Amino acid sequence: MAEPAPKISKAEAKARRQAERALGAKLPKTLHCSFCGKGQHQVQKLIAGPRGVFICDECVALCNDVIAERPIPSYAGFQPLLDRSTEELLALLPSINFATEANRDFLQDLVDRLREREVSWAAIADPLGVSRQSAWERFS
Ligand SMILES: [Zn+2]
Repeated sequence: MAEPAPKISKAEAKARRQAERALGAKLPKTLHCSFCGKGQHQVQKLIAGPRGVFICDECVALCNDVIAERPIPSYAGFQPLLDRSTEELLALLPSINFATEANRDFLQDLVDRLREREVSWAAIADPLGVSRQSAWERFS
């Protein structure tokens, strides 16, 4: 059974429109935490980050525990994303695709900006661990 998509509040609809304007792209119907993979309707809050990534309140709480060096819960019940059900993986596809496309576009923008600054293809290729020719073919 696919994840239910409850009706969204006016505040959520407004936040969604703002995010879509800022990103210049339509968001997937259901968003997922980029850390744990839970859908927006499985958590209290889902916070947008740059380039199509999101973090849920539960993962923020875990991060706060790590930062504060408090003991963190056991991972005994943790299920790796790829081990989840076929339906859960299918539900996750749009969010992963959205983040991938957003990062691909940002990578191209980043290379374009470096080229505008007259950075050489060799200097761009080096940190990527690819040849100058390969960087040129991929980004020009
Ligand atoms: Zn999460």
